[in-house]
Amino acid sequence: MARYLLAIDQGTTSTRAMVFDHEGRVMALAQQEHRQIYPQPGWVEHDPLEIWERTQAVVRQAVARAGVVPADIAAIGVTNQRETTIVWDRRTGRPYYNAIVWQDTRTAAICDQLARDGGPDRFRDRTGLPLATYFSGPKLKWILDQVPGVREAAERGDALFGTVDTWLIWWLTGGPDGGVHVTDVTNASRTLLMDLRRLDWDDEILRLLGIPRRMLPAIHPSVAPAAYGATRPDGPVGAAVPVCADLGDQQAALVGQTCFEPGEAKNTYGTGCFLLLNTGATPVFSRSGLITTVAYKMGDQPAVYALEGSIAVAGALVQWLRDNLGLIARSADVEALAGSVEDNGGVYFVPAFSGLFAPHWDGSARGLIIGLTRFANRGHLARAALEATAFQTREVVDAMYRDSGLRLTALRVDGGMVVNELLMQFQADILGVPVVRPAVTETTALGAAYAAGLAAGVWEEPARLRQYWQEARRWTPRLALNSS
Ligand code: ADP
Repeated sequence: MARYLLAIDQGTTSTRAMVFDHEGRVMALAQQEHRQIYPQPGWVEHDPLEIWERTQAVVRQAVARAGVVPADIAAIGVTNQRETTIVWDRRTGRPYYNAIVWQDTRTAAICDQLARDGGPDRFRDRTGLPLATYFSGPKLKWILDQVPGVREAAERGDALFGTVDTWLIWWLTGGPDGGVHVTDVTNASRTLLMDLRRLDWDDEILRLLGIPRRMLPAIHPSVAPAAYGATRPDGPVGAAVPVCADLGDQQAALVGQTCFEPGEAKNTYGTGCFLLLNTGATPVFSRSGLITTVAYKMGDQPAVYALEGSIAVAGALVQWLRDNLGLIARSADVEALAGSVEDNGGVYFVPAFSGLFAPHWDGSARGLIIGLTRFANRGHLARAALEATAFQTREVVDAMYRDSGLRLTALRVDGGMVVNELLMQFQADILGVPVVRPAVTETTALGAAYAAGLAAGVWEEPARLRQYWQEARRWTPRLALNSS
């Protein structure tokens, strides 16, 4: 019986494919980066066809490295960078424009204009989100307004919108030749276009933004055995394998960390930083600058919601030290440099490169380095850069405490930055709660594999997955800092 699971994790900087066995063990991994395109300040784009090429390559490599027969793969789970917006021609698969990435702030004027009537929170009670450049709806409006011919094509039914999950599943299931046009509730909950309770597109918001409904994908549960079609045997997987799960990357990490109970939370430290708290079957609407999002929906069961603190720049600041300042040669070198000084020497970073997300939602904010004296050196800058991630997380946790009345007993962490001991210890110190890292830190791909396995019947229920979560490392707070 087919027992293996393939996870496709299409992230902001790279695409990974991973094969897992029926006990959630990693059998193979393949990963490739793609280009970051910065046409002008504040704009960030990806080439959608490059992403599809990288996806095909890593899928082929991972299946080959795992040494499994493609027909023995029970199901595929897709997880993706969220909000990033693509519009393409259903007849050819050609994108009308590059993918507009979640960090891109070109839609500031659109958001300001929409906020003039009813303020930045005018859609919050329906969508869970403030009006901000982060989300897909304004990006889609920008493409419809600015790229010649797209609006007409959308009205004719030729132009399709999708987040990256939708784009990849469309190609995997046949592309122009019968590809399915679908998304899941977690990805749809990031568009500013979905009613969070009804889990359907909101016609009034579509009208206000001038978005033709027929260009939008069908919304399905995150775990759905039959909704997403099957791969083409002549495609990269090499067999007809059902796509059974689709989740935004942060929601997949929540599943991968097995945070299935209300009150359980995880923080992922990648390009940005995303803290999600499971709040159960009723959405909690924030008064402290957090957003409300769908955590997952498993088949016919009610949707589970989360409160989220989204931080735009975390690891991206380390990349900036590397690429724009040349302070380090590799991201990992930041730890030694930060460790070369005793403390931050009074230097602080506010990395507001894309404005500030939670809890401020200030699109006009820009980055700062403060506290400089003649004493400050490269080490202090590196240290302040790492501390900025921990301080931003503390700000989000404080907001979560205010909104939910809950207190964390520990914070589960994952993502590319959690190999950094100095950062993780400082995070525990600044939060006043232990920070714990699981044995499998590829929680995003793991969550997609878990979701696919639940759909395909490899596991009967989420509770069964808890046995696979193993603590690998724990940092306990050293400073007696206030943790209120
Ligand atoms: P994403 O999924 O968002 O593409 P990852 O989870 O792969 O990101 O994490 C990559 C990020 O982690 C990059 O921004 C990189 O600068 C940062 N990073 C990698 N290694 C380290 C390290 N040792 N210390 C701090 N940051 C690191």
